[in-house]
Amino acid sequence: MTRPEITKPSPRYQTPLLEARAFQCRFIVSEDMREAVCCGAPTSGTSSWCEWHRQLVYVRPHGQERKAA
Ligand SMILES: [Zn+2]
Repeated sequence: MTRPEITKPSPRYQTPLLEARAFQCRFIVSEDMREAVCCGAPTSGTSSWCEWHRQLVYVRPHGQERKAA
């Protein structure tokens, strides 16, 4: 692993999407969209995602990114 400083966030951060706040990662980790649960880990300022999920999102080919609310 080349980036030891970025680790997968603990499941303890996970938060129902409807309860997620401004500086919580919005990456959906649940498989059931009726009860969407997001990562909830602290984000760094302007991002909608934590470091971990931001790197995952940026790997996507194109077009699927979501704008920050
Ligand atoms: Zn996250």
